[in-house]
Amino acid sequence: MTVPRIEVDLRKIRHNVRHLVQRLARRGIGMTGVTKAVCGHPDIAGAMLDGGVSGLADARIENVERMRRSGIKCPISLLRTPMLSQADRVTRECNTSYNTELDTIHGLASSARRSNTVHDIILMVEMGDLREGIMPADLEAIASKVMGIAGVSLKGIGANFACLSGLAPDPRMVLELSSLVDQTEAACGVLLETISGGNSANLPWVLRGDCSGRINDLRLGEAILLGVDPVSGCRIDGLHTDAFTFVAEVIESKVKPQRGAWPTNGPGFSGIHIASDCRTVRQSIVAIGNQDTDVEGLSPPLGLTLIGATSDHLVVETANVCLAIGAEVSFQPNYSAMMRGMNAPNVEKVIRNRKPQTRNIPAERWSSDFALV
Ligand SMILES: *Cc1c(COP(=O)(O)O)cnc(C)c1O
Repeated sequence: MTVPRIEVDLRKIRHNVRHLVQRLARRGIGMTGVTKAVCGHPDIAGAMLDGGVSGLADARIENVERMRRSGIKCPISLLRTPMLSQADRVTRECNTSYNTELDTIHGLASSARRSNTVHDIILMVEMGDLREGIMPADLEAIASKVMGIAGVSLKGIGANFACLSGLAPDPRMVLELSSLVDQTEAACGVLLETISGGNSANLPWVLRGDCSGRINDLRLGEAILLGVDPVSGCRIDGLHTDAFTFVAEVIESKVKPQRGAWPTNGPGFSGIHIASDCRTVRQSIVAIGNQDTDVEGLSPPLGLTLIGATSDHLVVETANVCLAIGAEVSFQPNYSAMMRGMNAPNVEKVIRNRKPQTRNIPAERWSSDFALV
């Protein structure tokens, strides 16, 4: 099989989605599956749908277009505030987008009007993460303006926590978001359909059973794909953490002087002489590097230690084993390693367990306009 490759076990992803969908449903919260870390890979998006997410979301229009080309018909929203220059593509492929700028919303509205559709808007409000978001004091005015623009419809309010700041959301922020929603509804005379509470960083408090206020949707990527809480890095109870495996091939194995023991005297190591008492180690080179992934985010198997990497070489030290030339080594990627690997053209993506064994999904979810064609 081709190396380097990422093996993706869809059975584990479906399990993670189902497990989270059920636990969140008990708290009245729906789930949007976030596909940006896997570049909108259609099979992985399909596994999220099989598991029961109510829709998909991605940060990039190219990824959304990829999913649409593969026949995915479910509601898809654009997570990152759209580029004004991409308004036509956004209204063509996405039912909804998350927005913070009136100029952009006007652009989306005129695109939608030209194609006789209505594009749904979720306004992102700043709740302390200091990435995207309308300042709370400006929300009411902007929401009222959106209500008056033909071609768009105000669908909801969303917030983002712990993306840039790494600060986990606390109950105070949830209450604040809920009261902003109440105020906006009162001022605009509407009932907002979607109150989108944030990313995987929200799962710990939601699953703990803290008050979730008006939040009725979470946008989840990392928790589904890797089974961990992005803030603490801890495994979330009941989830698989090994749906993704990074596999690469050994191209050199030698006994070499231990790092630091090398006599680096002079340019080009001229006159190299390894002292007889110099400590040696078993070292191998694995044929991946920083061009393929975030090497620091790879967890090696037991007995292997990552020593360093360049663009194309990963050097590992092996305690007791000697890795054969041509042997494959499997690593567990973290979010950053997985994301960069999924985006690297020469890293093969191998999909396992494509077909769900049991489809315990309510029949109405597979109505004609929700099915994967
Ligand atoms: C990436 C992203 C998410 C999903 O984040 P995870 O940590 O992968 O769950 C949710 N919302 C927004 C706005 C995002 O950019």
